[in-house]
Amino acid sequence: MTADIAIHDAFVLTVDAQNRLYERGTVLIEDGAITEVRTSRGDDANTAADCIIDGAGKLVMPGLVNAHTHLELTPMVGAFSDLSMAELMGNMTAIYGEIADGEYDYLTGAGYELAALNFLAGGVTTVNSQDVRPSAGAETFGEAGLRGFFGPALSDLFWDVPVDEQFDRAREFIDEYHETYNGRIRATINPHDDWSCTRTLWERAADLADEYPDLLVHTHLLELEESNTMARSNGAKDSLDLLDDVGLLDERLVAAHYRMADDQDIRRTADAGAAVAHCPSIFCYWNPGPDVQWTPVPELRAAGVDVGLGIDDHYWHDSYNLFGEARQARLAANLKRSAGQFHSMELVRMLTIEGARALGVGDKIGSIEPGKRADVILLNLDQPKFTPVTNIPAHVANNAVPGDVTTTIVDGEILLRDGDVRTMDADAVRDRVQTAIERFKSETDWDLDSGGSDPPGAMSVARDLPKRGPAQLLGRLAFQSIKDTFPL
Ligand SMILES: [Zn+2]
Repeated sequence: MTADIAIHDAFVLTVDAQNRLYERGTVLIEDGAITEVRTSRGDDANTAADCIIDGAGKLVMPGLVNAHTHLELTPMVGAFSDLSMAELMGNMTAIYGEIADGEYDYLTGAGYELAALNFLAGGVTTVNSQDVRPSAGAETFGEAGLRGFFGPALSDLFWDVPVDEQFDRAREFIDEYHETYNGRIRATINPHDDWSCTRTLWERAADLADEYPDLLVHTHLLELEESNTMARSNGAKDSLDLLDDVGLLDERLVAAHYRMADDQDIRRTADAGAAVAHCPSIFCYWNPGPDVQWTPVPELRAAGVDVGLGIDDHYWHDSYNLFGEARQARLAANLKRSAGQFHSMELVRMLTIEGARALGVGDKIGSIEPGKRADVILLNLDQPKFTPVTNIPAHVANNAVPGDVTTTIVDGEILLRDGDVRTMDADAVRDRVQTAIERFKSETDWDLDSGGSDPPGAMSVARDLPKRGPAQLLGRLAFQSIKDTFPL
């Protein structure tokens, strides 16, 4: 019996079709793949392997999949925490306009590194990130040994970057980065959402998707009350009708949010084989209204839609904790309805295999089974907080945090071992982030220090906002609302 890595005598939560849990299990890894998963035998500690990990007191489970996120502003953790909704949206839109112009590459580059470092150390092995300038992200995650889906956001109403230029950049990104780093880095096509893109932009995104048929299409759908209003302004009956019209409602689609989905939307999504990324923390943080409709996750899953969990803009709610999204998904659903909306194992599946399926790679990662790529994490169960070790799925969904992760393995490579990061220089990353945020402060009116954050005033934000796109967007929404109220 030989292997590159042998993990023995661990609790192993496989997340396979039967949700098998071994109380004393062995996982063997060779050439980047899982070769054997079984009950431990007495001599497993003597396996002929390059690396033997004693799993006593540890939980082995699949690496977590962050199914929807944005990483460029990671160094802004703490900056948005205390802002009102209006301040948050204004400042965020102004900053993104500047990023699109390439003003803050030093900040966004440091952001990718900080995100990779924190995710790697916290058990997140795959991200699906929609950004403005993703090249540095693809390279950072590729070199750190992580798995990532990246692509530049496309929008013609959110900022003023010429659309031709946006599509040229998207094409260049795909040609340069798709299927690189041993296939760990993949490109995606990213029309931003159903409220800041015109039909023309959606049609061009569909043409690009035709040109590159093995790429995912990653977007935000049914996020806001305005989603369906804008779809009507785009000449469709509603948001999904627009996607269907342009030919993008299919199994390649992974859409964040779906908060406004009704029964018909759920059925159409399931029929199309499209997937959803649920990001509960961001909505709980900025609560768009006390009576908001909440994403119908149980109904989506019951209809057969793969629902992954995403941390979304983690610098708005100051968290790298993807385990926390499972807990938040449960708390928010239970608060809106009643206890028992999810079984813990369903939440574990959403953190792992369902996220992988949502990204079209459920046959390669997301569970611990022979033949799958070895994306595996170890958590230290030998702590008071996990005592007694009853109901491990509930511990994972409700109680685990990134700091419980001791070892992270991706594609059979050990990126974190006993808490030590092996593929990144953690001190150097921290220095770069500190330098970047000092420079950002010196170049802007942001006041950020250990005591808190004071964003630029409204005048300064107004000066930096993109001028044409958002104005058109508001105009279109107002016009459509009038048409909806007074139909001809
Ligand atoms: Zn998002």
